[in-house]
Amino acid sequence: MMGASARDSTSMKTESISVRCCIVGGGPAGMMLGLLLARAGVGVMVLEKHADFLRDFRGDTIHPSTLEVMHELGLLDELLKLPHQKAERLEVQIGDMKLPLVDFTGLPVRCRFIAFMPQWDFLNFLAREGSRTPTFTLRMQAEAVGLIEDSGRVVGVEARLPDGLLQVRADLVVASDGRHSVLREKAGLEVIVLGAPMDVLWFRLSRRPGDPEQSMGRFDTGRIFVMINRGTYWQCGYVIPKQSYESIRERGLPAFRENVAALAPFANDRVGELENWDEIKLLTVRVDRLRQWHRPGLLCIGDAAHAMSPIGGVGINLAIQDAVAAANRLAVPLRENRLTDDDLHQVQRRREFPTRVTQRLQVLVQNRVVARVLESRERVAPPWPIRLMVWLPILRRIPARLIGIGIRPEHVETANFRYTESA
Ligand SMILES: Cc1cc2nc3c(=O)[nH]c(=O)nc-3n(C[C@H](O)[C@H](O)[C@H](O)COP(=O)(O)OP(=O)(O)OC[C@H]3O[C@@H](n4cnc5c(N)ncnc54)[C@H](O)[C@@H]3O)c2cc1C
Repeated sequence: MMGASARDSTSMKTESISVRCCIVGGGPAGMMLGLLLARAGVGVMVLEKHADFLRDFRGDTIHPSTLEVMHELGLLDELLKLPHQKAERLEVQIGDMKLPLVDFTGLPVRCRFIAFMPQWDFLNFLAREGSRTPTFTLRMQAEAVGLIEDSGRVVGVEARLPDGLLQVRADLVVASDGRHSVLREKAGLEVIVLGAPMDVLWFRLSRRPGDPEQSMGRFDTGRIFVMINRGTYWQCGYVIPKQSYESIRERGLPAFRENVAALAPFANDRVGELENWDEIKLLTVRVDRLRQWHRPGLLCIGDAAHAMSPIGGVGINLAIQDAVAAANRLAVPLRENRLTDDDLHQVQRRREFPTRVTQRLQVLVQNRVVARVLESRERVAPPWPIRLMVWLPILRRIPARLIGIGIRPEHVETANFRYTESA
């Protein structure tokens, strides 16, 4: 930390602080980057607008590549002590056919499974590890509202606190404030919108003895339904055509419950748990990316740089991988006070390729599979690539690799992250 001062006015106080790097947004990208930079001896402050990490479901997947990163940081065993479910394989049901599609057991990594863990447990874990490092500060209930600029360069962030304002001056501001990023908008960065033909309704149903073990996806006439085993409950995702939410609501909750029961007959006895629409959350799917992820003094990562489609459930993985790549490239220049705009550009260069390829594949599946199923008025047959995967199990490693590891996996450059003040 470089310095702090506080000034009281009549009712609002303004706190000013200087730090080497200010990260806005305590999601997977921001918390991982904060932890890594702090471990590298960089003074870092993470601003998170919420009071805690408890919030609506936003994906609970910890991918094999993230587990590998946790291993590289020496934190894997501790992390896996937290309650979680392991998924070594994923299957889809098309019509009445159950088709095994993804098999993580052949991946060249330590943990050959996806760990389903509430995201708040994972974020709390990263926060706790960060707090063990003297150069790490996390400010909750600090909502960034604007950038501080000087001659076209971003030199800090202004944030709203419950009782005043916070001005953080920093050599680098990282925007990891998610798909509705305020900072990328304030920075005027150009967004390329790729679009999506669907939205998703998320809700929970209780899980009971005798229910299937495996998480599953079901494609049926005009409908797509996903159920994720979360131990005591099922996290359910009901995929709907874009902008059809209002008409689904108009048809009424009993009709919605009937549809759910038809897609998951074993849960017929508990669809009544959906008592009102407040229990069903709408995720408006958007797929986009920034043309340029940075400006002098500012870098965007994670969803703030590229909102991913829910296809494959890879958003968290990409957010973590961005954080690792950013830390690998930026830790030393930040610590040694010699950060250049080219360093920021190199982070984009490293991560843009995996982002573009992943989004291209997602858009392909959205248009070729999701849109067709949602439009279909009769049973769809499994597309040929899926049939091929059923006949040739080794092919299930392809989606496993794309989902579990991703394109261009990142590894913690451990030499940088063992730094201490005395080193
Ligand atoms: C319903 C749903 C289900 C999903 N399921 C999956 C899944 O199964 N697997 C998967 O990989 N991905 C999933 N995703 C996507 C995944 O959640 C994101 O891709 C991932 O969380 C991105 O991480 P991030 O750190 O970039 O951003 P986020 O996780 O969005 O974190 C941004 C953080 O910034 C904070 N913030 C925002 N604005 C400000 C501000 N102005 N000041 C301070 N803080 C701010 C937010 O409170 C938040 O904590 C899902 C998303 C949703 C919405």
